[in-house]
Amino acid sequence: MAQRPDRGEVATYIPELARIDAKSFGLVVIDADGHVAAAGDSEVPFSIQSISKVFTLTLALGMVGDRLWRRVGREPSGSPFNSIVQLEHERGIPRNPFINAGAIAVTDLILSGHQPREALGEIVRFMRFLADDSSITIDEAVAASEQRTGFRNIALANYMKSFGVLENSVDFALGVYFHHCAIAMSCRQLAMAGRFLAHHGRNPDTGLLVVQPERARRINAVMLTCGHYDGSGEFAYRVGLPGKSGVGGGILAIAPGKASIAVWAPGLDASGNSHLGRIALEMLTKKLGWSIFGV
Ligand code: GLN
Repeated sequence: MAQRPDRGEVATYIPELARIDAKSFGLVVIDADGHVAAAGDSEVPFSIQSISKVFTLTLALGMVGDRLWRRVGREPSGSPFNSIVQLEHERGIPRNPFINAGAIAVTDLILSGHQPREALGEIVRFMRFLADDSSITIDEAVAASEQRTGFRNIALANYMKSFGVLENSVDFALGVYFHHCAIAMSCRQLAMAGRFLAHHGRNPDTGLLVVQPERARRINAVMLTCGHYDGSGEFAYRVGLPGKSGVGGGILAIAPGKASIAVWAPGLDASGNSHLGRIALEMLTKKLGWSIFGV
């Protein structure tokens, strides 16, 4: 792993991510009127990884409603995203939907009553609908590598299965999970997809309600408290916005009422969150006074 203390380190657990140029950087801000401000590699698709968990949570809440919270908690874990320790204490119920275990449990809910292919199609269609862009696809090479190297996730899923938390087969739940983590999107597409969260559940362009305002508010709350794993406190302290990171180096951040923001810088900090992405968001929110906690 190349030491780049100024940029963080690119994820190396699969070759597709290890190959990404650590100097890539993209930023897109889309305001309430639909104005797009873009900088750097804003059109380059990257692996959204755990940012997909915001959208699977939204989709699953739409399918099963608040029943979802019987299967997964909504408290920050204070642990790494792929940690297994809490699962034993909490009898297989993951702390929140954004750590890997929680996201696998959410994916399992989406899968129930469907074939894996249908569930995945549903997730990709939802992303395309939200971003208003039919070109969004899954990077199959990333999905295959995730599957080949995902021993920790396989352990988490089996562990939850042993507590009866997963309804479907471990293979099916993980297959869908690995594939939605492998969706590739640009900063512009991601910022587009996040707009409903910035505007009370509504796409401000079309006026279409994606989720009820109360649900958007709650998804934002979980993003603020859990979106950066054991770095969530630091992100709230420095940036002060609901945000969700992925090990591909992306962050989706929501300035409620103001803008949807996506940043991509592949170098990660020790918690697996984009190092420069966080710094960029910190500078942006400071300059614009956009922290939800005030200036
Ligand atoms: N696919 C990765 C995993 O399951 C996602 C982790 C992340 O983005 N934090 O480990």
